[in-house]
Amino acid sequence: MDIKKMRFGMLKAKGVTEIRERALPEMGEFDVLIKQETCNICTTDYGQFSGLREHQGYPMAGGHEGSGIIIEKGRKVKGYEIGDRVALLYDACGRCDMCKSGQEGRCADADILDKFSEDGYKGFFGFADYMVVPSRRIAKINKDLPSAEAGFLEPLATVVKGVKLVKAKPNETIAVIGAGTMGLLNALTLKAYGCKVILTESFDNKLENAKALGFDVIDIKKEDPVEGVMRLTNGKGVDAVVVAVGNSAANNQSVKMLKEAYGRILVFAAGYPEPNFDISSNLIHYKRMEIIGTFSADYIDFMDAAELLNSGAVKVTNLLESKTFKLDDFKEALEYASIPGKYRVTVEL
Ligand SMILES: [Zn+2]
Ligand SMILES: [Zn+2]
Repeated sequence: MDIKKMRFGMLKAKGVTEIRERALPEMGEFDVLIKQETCNICTTDYGQFSGLREHQGYPMAGGHEGSGIIIEKGRKVKGYEIGDRVALLYDACGRCDMCKSGQEGRCADADILDKFSEDGYKGFFGFADYMVVPSRRIAKINKDLPSAEAGFLEPLATVVKGVKLVKAKPNETIAVIGAGTMGLLNALTLKAYGCKVILTESFDNKLENAKALGFDVIDIKKEDPVEGVMRLTNGKGVDAVVVAVGNSAANNQSVKMLKEAYGRILVFAAGYPEPNFDISSNLIHYKRMEIIGTFSADYIDFMDAAELLNSGAVKVTNLLESKTFKLDDFKEALEYASIPGKYRVTVEL
């Protein structure tokens, strides 16, 4: 292995970034060396930078929406070749009880939020030029997809997990509250599953984008979102609501958007400060309602997400900001991503 070091962007504290170097881990027989091309900035990354999600800890070598090209592989790596474009999965040990029951997203041995690397960092080192990872942590993505789009593997996997949990069926009508990156990604995935989607949003650029992608939209500056949903469903309400923003108002609207019985609510997003959900248990009872939580993703969801990206069933081109940043401008990239109303911002590596 000729390349010995990785250069990566990290957070020392709220609002304080640094570009550092460290030795690349030794390559094992089952590892690949990846030349990373891009890593997109997740809400968790800029949320910590701006001080809203500091519970994740410091020093944070964040970033997990990365993609790149395999430039070297271990002797026992099968199914991947040098030159393949790959995107990253969560790490999972494959040995613990969670992994054995298909809940790799809950792997007891790889909980990145609780662990420090040997040299004292939290995080996945996503904003790094090179990376050594076990081949269980990658999925192949078509080379004709831009790297920044391949970086949607992880967020899309979390969406796929939620769409499965909410049991979305073809021809159902589903409301998605919030047309930001994750709201729109939910909408695109639901559409790929055959559902009709209504999005509610306040930012004009997001409303325009959602409309251009063929969705019914409700501009909540002009119309009450619950009334809007009722208008678009002839007073029936929707089969399910995906709450893709983390706030109390959205939670409470979702209940009123549902059809008379057997409606489902998917709580997709966390919110900081912590939101409330005010609901009477009688209402859940009489309306035979389901309230479903989702967080993270398992390996089967990553595989399904790779298929959705590779087949073109979910196209994420419109979920990326056209302005991109070099690693040396890591701080500017995080500042730009923190501006309300932005889609995913890409760091080129
Ligand atoms: Zn993410
Ligand atoms: Zn495990």
